[in-house]
Amino acid sequence: MTMQNIGRPTRPEGDAASEGFASLTGGRGLLQDEPLIFELGGWTKTGVDLPAASEDASDLAGLTRASLDLPGLSEPEAMRHYVRLSQKNHAIDLALYPLGSCTMKHNPRLNEKAARMAGFADLHPLAPVATAQGALELMDRLAHWLKTLTGMPAVALTPKAGAHGELCGLLCIRAAHEAAGQGHRRTVLVPTSAHGTNPATAAFVGYSVQEIAQTDDGRVDLADLESKLGPDVAAIMVTNPNTCGLFEREVIEIGRLTHAAGAYFYCDGANFNAIVGRVRPGDLGVDAMHINLHKTFSTPHGGGGPGAGPVVLSEALAPFAPAPWVVSGPDGLHLVEEAVDEAARAFGRMSAFQGQMGMFVRAYAYMRSHGADGLRQVAEDAVLNANYIKARLSDVMTPAFPDGPCMHEALFDDAWLEGTGITTLDFAKAMIDEGFHPMTMYFPLVVHGAMLIEPTETESRRELDRFCDALRALAATAKLGDLERFKGAPHLAPLRRLDETLAARKPKLTWKPEAELA
Ligand SMILES: *Cc1c(COP(=O)(O)O)cnc(C)c1O
Repeated sequence: MTMQNIGRPTRPEGDAASEGFASLTGGRGLLQDEPLIFELGGWTKTGVDLPAASEDASDLAGLTRASLDLPGLSEPEAMRHYVRLSQKNHAIDLALYPLGSCTMKHNPRLNEKAARMAGFADLHPLAPVATAQGALELMDRLAHWLKTLTGMPAVALTPKAGAHGELCGLLCIRAAHEAAGQGHRRTVLVPTSAHGTNPATAAFVGYSVQEIAQTDDGRVDLADLESKLGPDVAAIMVTNPNTCGLFEREVIEIGRLTHAAGAYFYCDGANFNAIVGRVRPGDLGVDAMHINLHKTFSTPHGGGGPGAGPVVLSEALAPFAPAPWVVSGPDGLHLVEEAVDEAARAFGRMSAFQGQMGMFVRAYAYMRSHGADGLRQVAEDAVLNANYIKARLSDVMTPAFPDGPCMHEALFDDAWLEGTGITTLDFAKAMIDEGFHPMTMYFPLVVHGAMLIEPTETESRRELDRFCDALRALAATAKLGDLERFKGAPHLAPLRRLDETLAARKPKLTWKPEAELA
């Protein structure tokens, strides 16, 4: 291989381009600003040595590009760029991540070790089944644990997220109604406090969504539910524990009323972390429930995945479960890809192949390393930690539902900020200056200025105290009316208040050199 001189830096130190580079990578307090890799430039160099190409060797008949317009950085420049970017992510491995509803718990490295085993990680989905027996056995055992923990007779493993699981559940429900000549049922009932994915999924399947009111103590209003259940209702979607962090005490009655009206009970099981090992949704009358493996059973998530949202199904819905599923035969385990008999009337598939194998391995490793008793303790500790936060903050902030304990999340409203001129958003941004990632804000929608804190079971007492101490001090400052501190927050982050709505609605997904923009 010959070294190409076109790949070497050609500009002397101190020229215009180098100065631009220096200012672009400036930062304060060792917090480095980071431009786009394209802005780092280096168009005239490259960090790799490629063999000199011979022009004649091209068989592209004149279609050869003169330039690829790829930024050329040296190895240390490229390294630093990506390491700096990685440091801009908040991560559960850095500190507490109290996002309510998201269950940001520590992900044991044991799971990662298991998932990286070559027999799982390098297995091709089209490999002959005889070579995939271990992976199929793991899927089978995972299915067994999920069915046992939920008290449900069937599970569809393939959905790839909670929302995808909701879709799977509603498609099972639609197929079951159609098979029973009830295809005219067009409505899905959803409580006002529901996660946005619930009504979105129902609408996606083609149902119209009707809201169920909530009682003053944050639960489903049974009278309102009863008045809305009718011959047009296909299903209800209820989260339990709900998004206010409260257990639906009347859940059995909710299921009974729903079934009496000929509808199915879909339970959003994203909050299963709070009840795993203590309550079996199958005993509560649930017909379908997704389980976010990436929340309850601990796999890294946030930033878009990967996740897995298996759906457990009742006897009535089991025949409609999507393919594939694992069965055991005389020559070992295999995946049933197509429904063959009357008992199995799969509505179709949710994904190509078998689903998220890596998540299955992680979740199963987590289950086996905890054991049944350990999983029960997970739920108990998650609830204990949330109640500790609720108890420590309730005299300075206003709990949305002060009476009785909460489940795995402590929910506050913004009544305590009244008259200060400070909003939930200001308070959350000020938390960043104190070194804490904000909690979930303005969700659930039914609570004014909601602040939803989910510590999970993996935070220590010391860490919970640090968090509570910081919030107590910040709350005291807010009540003194230190507007500048809050309105301008975050003061210490590399970027201050961003227009998050604009960023989400009108993302800039392309880059052009400044010269071309002008
Ligand atoms: C996280 C969550 C979902 C959606 O799960 P994804 O895996 O993000 O699709 C649905 N409902 C509730 C209550 C959740 O917390």
